[in-house]
Amino acid sequence: MFKQNKLKKELFKRLVVLLFMAISIIFSIYSKYNEKATQKTQIVQLPYNNAISMIQNEEISEIYFDTTDKVVLKDKAGKVYELKLFNEDIFYEFIQEKIEKGQEIKINNIEKNYIYTIFNFVYNVLIVLIVVLFVLNLCVLYNIIKKIKKESQKDEIKQEPEKILKSNVKFSDVAGLDEEKFELEEVVDFLKNPEKYKEMGAKIPRGILLSGAPGTGKTLLAKALAGEAGVEFLHASGAEFIEIYIGVGAKRIRKLFALAKEEAPCIIFIDEIDAVGSKRCDNSDNTEHNQTLEQLLTEMDGFDTKNTDGIVVVAATNRPDSLDKALLRPGRFDRHIVVHLPDVKGREEILKIHARNKKIDDSVDFNKIAHNTSGFSGAQLENLLNEASIMAVRNMHEKISDSDINDALKKIFVGLSKTGRILSEEERRLIAYHESGHATISLFMKTQKKVKEVSIISSGDAGGYTWYETTEDKNFISKTELKADVVSLLGGRAAEKFFIKDV
Ligand code: ADP
Repeated sequence: MFKQNKLKKELFKRLVVLLFMAISIIFSIYSKYNEKATQKTQIVQLPYNNAISMIQNEEISEIYFDTTDKVVLKDKAGKVYELKLFNEDIFYEFIQEKIEKGQEIKINNIEKNYIYTIFNFVYNVLIVLIVVLFVLNLCVLYNIIKKIKKESQKDEIKQEPEKILKSNVKFSDVAGLDEEKFELEEVVDFLKNPEKYKEMGAKIPRGILLSGAPGTGKTLLAKALAGEAGVEFLHASGAEFIEIYIGVGAKRIRKLFALAKEEAPCIIFIDEIDAVGSKRCDNSDNTEHNQTLEQLLTEMDGFDTKNTDGIVVVAATNRPDSLDKALLRPGRFDRHIVVHLPDVKGREEILKIHARNKKIDDSVDFNKIAHNTSGFSGAQLENLLNEASIMAVRNMHEKISDSDINDALKKIFVGLSKTGRILSEEERRLIAYHESGHATISLFMKTQKKVKEVSIISSGDAGGYTWYETTEDKNFISKTELKADVVSLLGGRAAEKFFIKDV
């Protein structure tokens, strides 16, 4: 913006100068024309024959000769004529003859007025100079206008939803994703020393696809990549490129990459890439989507030919299978990193990272919480500690205690208890049978988890709840376990039928 203002000031100055020049050019042309015109109106051009007859009729009293082929004649009444000569000598002899015969004609030889001539010459040179300067100034003006246009385009790019951030996230802020970080460390090195790889003829991946469940730290990893490499972080979301108007999404993609070229070296992060990158279809309703995706492909391909060293595109998705195959081809998003849900150790580290800026009681055992939060993502763990700190304030504790964390866990698992909700005796009986149905049946299912708490205090939408102990991390689930889950779930309904004789 600052540059644009400076250019605008320069433009204004040039315009003022141009205006003065234009005025002086117009003025001098006008005065020259006027001078000629007055001369033309005062001096009558005389044909040769008429001049001879006027001299013979003794109407001419004075003749002015100068160095040109023109003479000026003045008649007795003082009227002035100009006569163009083809042969000066013959005319001169003719006049001499007339004078010798006694005719009264005064001959004036006008010396050329050199001062006037020099002045006239300088004046003409000056006009030419002003015209040349005028044209030069016009060229400069054109250039300034071009620059202003370019700057305003740049500003326009910067006003787009993409955000440029200076990331201060480091790999040490990302817990538990050691393999993922290891893969990215190479890219950091490339961004820092591109020459080393170029010399070796190595092509560094231009596109990195991070896939994983929501909240597993994909954005955080991309930010840490930018932070470690000390480059700009351009954030965009796939959804921002989805428009109903054909061509708008493609234009945004172009602008994003144009901005990246301005800011290089940098990381372009496209969150929810599946919004733009899902498989193309032939359906004409999807022209806009197809165009946007094709623009993205074009921009990624353009990387090799144009001087775009130092730009790495990182995309995140939780649906990698929905992406168009073309996106995953070599040279595009060819490095695929799966970001897993954290394991016990990872969860403990994440909890410790997010506990850094919180007041935590010494009794809190992060290892125990990590065991109780199987299946939690990094974002959910962060949220758990945040909820616990709110609970601590609500419970008027000085520090976040174990019980606050338990309350927060319960809130997350089963929702906030609604102790104020008034239920009739009959309803409470129904809920009690229903919940004990779940709990009791679970006791008989070998694979079922242990029951931690059964309650008829409603929470969230539910009338009551049966809360199971969390188990250790599990990567697979068997058919028997799934069946046991279904049986336990139906236990509530079965109990209602058995004891109340209705459902
Ligand atoms: P995603 O992009 O995968 O949906 P984010 O990167 O936006 O997830 O994660 C949201 C928040 O969760 C992060 O800002 C961070 O505070 C926390 N988080 C997630 N994973 C981790 C991790 N591995 N280490 C530390 N914090 C994490």
